[in-house]
Amino acid sequence: MDLTWLIEKKRGTKSTWYEDEAGHIVAKVCTKCETVKSLDEYPKLKIGIGGRNSRCKPCRSLAQQEYYADNRENYVEYHRKRSSDNIDYRRNWYTANSERVAERNKIWRRNNPNKRVLYKLQRRARIALLPDNFTQKQQVDTLEYFGGCALTGSTENIHWEHAIPLSVGHGGTTRGNMYPMSGRLNNSKWTHNIFEWFTSNKERFNLSQTKFDELIEYLAQANEMTTDEYREYVYWCHRNKKKII
Ligand SMILES: [Zn+2]
Repeated sequence: MDLTWLIEKKRGTKSTWYEDEAGHIVAKVCTKCETVKSLDEYPKLKIGIGGRNSRCKPCRSLAQQEYYADNRENYVEYHRKRSSDNIDYRRNWYTANSERVAERNKIWRRNNPNKRVLYKLQRRARIALLPDNFTQKQQVDTLEYFGGCALTGSTENIHWEHAIPLSVGHGGTTRGNMYPMSGRLNNSKWTHNIFEWFTSNKERFNLSQTKFDELIEYLAQANEMTTDEYREYVYWCHRNKKKII
């Protein structure tokens, strides 16, 4: 880069930049590779000198990759937790504001009569496409196998839970996706990923890791998978929701 007609400016020991005669910043020294590069070779950053980052594009993307590699676990966990917190938050909000929501829905339905019917049909169609062959006999056998709620052993207020929720658009009402669960857990599990839900709620409900592992083992076997394959499969389903609605 030709610096002949440019004026060198410095701030502190780190920042060096070059201005033209009109006082416009046209180049900077990258604080990482210490090379002089023209301004457009730096990522935009409002608060940076010349409105640009202190590190050039290649240096910055390298730093980001390194950061990501070092913090991969935290990063993944953070996003996992964020999405599950977000679902909880939205759910709580809807519960707390149920009257407002009902009123809003009423207005929406009045204003969108066609869409409303369409959504209903689409939802029904999507759920109808999922397998639905969990027989009475299988229900009895499954309940006998677990002896009650699959996670607590309780025999009161048993609900049939979809391991992969119908709303995800995968799974269905089949032996490989159904297990008995006590009502209060069933309300909490809702549309969460079963693995994430268990991790976040294990302590809250004082749940047994052994019982959970046994349930996963059972579901994996019913789907003719190893437990690792089953886990992969569940995450895949939640990542790849069938978005008909
Ligand atoms: Zn650089």
